[in-house]
Amino acid sequence: MEDVILVVNCGSSSLKVALFSPRLQHLAGALAERLGQPDAKARAGVDKVHVPLPKNANHEDALAALIRHFEEQRLLTRQPLAIGHRVVHGGEAFRAPALIDAEVLEAIEDCTSLAPLHNPVNLTGIRATQALFPDVPQVAVFDTAFHQTLPSKAYLYGLPRRFYDDWGVRRYGFHGTSHSFMLTESARILNKPESETSIISAHLGNGCSITAIRNGKSVDTSMGLTPLEGLVMGTRSGDIDPGLFDFLRSRGIDGEALSDLLNNDSGLLGLSGSTNDMRTLIRQADQGDRRCADALAVFCFRLARYIGAMMASLDSLDALVFTGGIGENSDRVRKDTLAPLGLLGFSLDSGANEKHGRDSKHHIEHSNSRFPVLVVATNEEAVIASAALAQSC
Ligand code: AMP
Repeated sequence: MEDVILVVNCGSSSLKVALFSPRLQHLAGALAERLGQPDAKARAGVDKVHVPLPKNANHEDALAALIRHFEEQRLLTRQPLAIGHRVVHGGEAFRAPALIDAEVLEAIEDCTSLAPLHNPVNLTGIRATQALFPDVPQVAVFDTAFHQTLPSKAYLYGLPRRFYDDWGVRRYGFHGTSHSFMLTESARILNKPESETSIISAHLGNGCSITAIRNGKSVDTSMGLTPLEGLVMGTRSGDIDPGLFDFLRSRGIDGEALSDLLNNDSGLLGLSGSTNDMRTLIRQADQGDRRCADALAVFCFRLARYIGAMMASLDSLDALVFTGGIGENSDRVRKDTLAPLGLLGFSLDSGANEKHGRDSKHHIEHSNSRFPVLVVATNEEAVIASAALAQSC
């Protein structure tokens, strides 16, 4: 059995692990969900084989069970070469992946106030993996790092300056591993050096963000201090009027209930009243469900506005790139989003747009489009594996 790189991605109640070869081939994956609850469960591989977990299994229990499963399947026959961890918030301390030592752990802890739901659980994953593999180099890969090149005009809020100076309140941006992968892939497809490639990258999954990349550097992005800002998402509101908070307080919605509303009950789910799944939403909209039709329209219009807004940070554009579960698979969303942007010169080839997913040509623009439009499958785990390998050598 060859050497492997282990990738660990801890969510608040979930754990994803994957094994990659040193040539970055995906070898195996597994997912544990509902951690901390009586019905915690785990599945591994493309066949989704059930992996037994103890009742109320936590992240440590799940990690141990999934590693044991890989060992039993002889997918892991010796210690991994390196381990890569997704870490959500690196604040201003991290501009690149970091080899984990006591100082790095402390710096990740210091960023906890900026991502209280994510960083503690990322640290749990790191510590649990360190306990299992104390001699293997471990690398933290930050969602925020790629956006540390944002200029101050793009990251400062219109708030008293002391909020930034004293507390670090600014726009950080997220999905950095996906957007940086879009840069690498677009440069390859367009046959240009990354440092001369300028794109608008739209990552549309359950979470959604869009980034302007100028000559290989992130210069504007739609997510902010937290991953709540920007586009309408599966269950997150994206941009709203902050004056809404006073109004909702007067209706008794405040504190945790407010956070829950904006993070978990808004976006496509809130607008449609029934689903955050784009496939279901489109099907119901086409069957005449008015709320689903409105949700789809709001999603695409917000995205179109942001594509226009990203132009303000670029002096040339090599391609608009779609990725994520929705961006890669929904020709309808791509079509409805670009329909109002004819003034900017975007034009789709409807055949190429509909066919995408069944060929691997990436290009979906019409020959008269001012800019190329690409569809590219994201692979955040491969980016983390690659960074882990690079940093640990
Ligand atoms: P992700 O978070 O990247 O896994 O993306 C999840 C989103 O992608 C969900 O809203 C899915 O409904 C959506 N999605 C996946 N496949 C399709 C498809 N064929 N058409 C439309 N949306 C899709």
